[in-house]
Amino acid sequence: MATIALDVVTPNGSVFHEEDCEIVVLQTVQGELGVMAGHIPTVTPLKIGVLRAKIDGKFEYLAVTEGFAEVRPELVTVLVQAGEFSKDIDTERAEAARLRASELLEQKQDERVDKYRAELALQRALNRLEVSKY
Ligand code: ATP
Repeated sequence: MATIALDVVTPNGSVFHEEDCEIVVLQTVQGELGVMAGHIPTVTPLKIGVLRAKIDGKFEYLAVTEGFAEVRPELVTVLVQAGEFSKDIDTERAEAARLRASELLEQKQDERVDKYRAELALQRALNRLEVSKY
């Protein structure tokens, strides 16, 4: 079976590289996109979500922040602020981040609170908590 390579890159460097993925499933802003070898080239924005890659018949799961994916027939490059394997997610930290963000969002009268940033922080925390279950 033809395989496709996957690179997940953050500002801190590469967090994942695999030469032989059977399929890479991305959560794009337009919905889920499954990519296999030979896919037509494209660039797509990614949502905060889970990235799944099937390797040797088994899926690996990564929690990723928003970013971009560049798809080429033989390589998917994912550019995100942060990405963690489900097993590496610190759930206490994510829970603390979730609480912090929820509290900020509840301060409706406080104009100093940047709601958009708090909403994104909440989404990242909820995503990490979800992906940690895999
Ligand atoms: P926090 O408020 O806990 O820092 P955050 O959403 O602001 O969360 P990010 O800016 O997305 O964190 O990530 C900063 C760095 O910390 C990245 O390298 C990311 O992989 C790592 N990171 C963040 N939260 C977790 C977590 N719960 N478990 C493991 N690594 C994490």
